[in-house]
Amino acid sequence: MSKEYDYCKIVQDLLPSYIEKVTDEETNKFVEEHINICDKCKKMYNDLLHSFEDNEKTKIKKEVKYMKKYKNKMTVLKTILLTILAVVIIYIGRNMIIIGSLQSKANKYTDMTNYHIEWYSYEPDGIGITEIYMQDDEYLQKNGDYNIEEGFSGNITYANKVTGSRVYFLDVKAYGETEEYIEPWMNMEAINYINTQNDILRFIWMSITARISTVECNGRECYKIDDLGVTTYVDKETGLTVRVLNVSATVTEDRKESSVFDIFYEVNTVTDEDLEEPDKSEFEKVDFSYDPS
Ligand SMILES: [Zn+2]
Repeated sequence: MSKEYDYCKIVQDLLPSYIEKVTDEETNKFVEEHINICDKCKKMYNDLLHSFEDNEKTKIKKEVKYMKKYKNKMTVLKTILLTILAVVIIYIGRNMIIIGSLQSKANKYTDMTNYHIEWYSYEPDGIGITEIYMQDDEYLQKNGDYNIEEGFSGNITYANKVTGSRVYFLDVKAYGETEEYIEPWMNMEAINYINTQNDILRFIWMSITARISTVECNGRECYKIDDLGVTTYVDKETGLTVRVLNVSATVTEDRKESSVFDIFYEVNTVTDEDLEEPDKSEFEKVDFSYDPS
């Protein structure tokens, strides 16, 4: 009797280890033989086994729950990152489409031979003006400053590819002649300010950095392109620039200030009348050497 009681105690002591399968074969045999003949220990074994299995189940459930939570978090994070990536791609893609299309439009004007451009820059003491009437092989170009007290001062160039050029110096009422054709300062290419035509790196960089919105400017539907301190208003229809704001333009080496240019242009409207030179009788002819370099 007392011997059996000892067996029970030993077996019950071993049961947790037996269930967790950490006992050796000899012990297993001993435990199994005993619970087969002892109802008390068998019941205890079954109870222990159930509670052990229940424990394992909750443990697994908890793990699964944790994994699900972790997975959900990762999914949210992935979605956020993908959304940001998509927005960035759409932003840059839109810029690329706009800039690319403006450049292919502007490109069509490069070889035009009949145009009128007025280019104004605003300065504290007056307005800088460059104006050109171009018609095939000849042009009239005005270049100088407009001041309220003194009016326009500067020079007027008439150039002809066949006969040569004359430059009128309004300040000193003199003019000079040369057989050379003086190249104009202003042309259709010069008013394509965002020119990215032969510069793929500038095109890509601008597509990344520029902020582009739609506005009206100088009577035209424009894209307003903000890019690293320079704002360019580009005509949607032609791809040509109608206004430039530069917040840190270099005036002299140690002076920087904002600058504004306004540009007006027309194509295929220039006639002979627009190319009329100043009345020569008011000007004195001077020796004039022109250095095309
Ligand atoms: Zn027993």
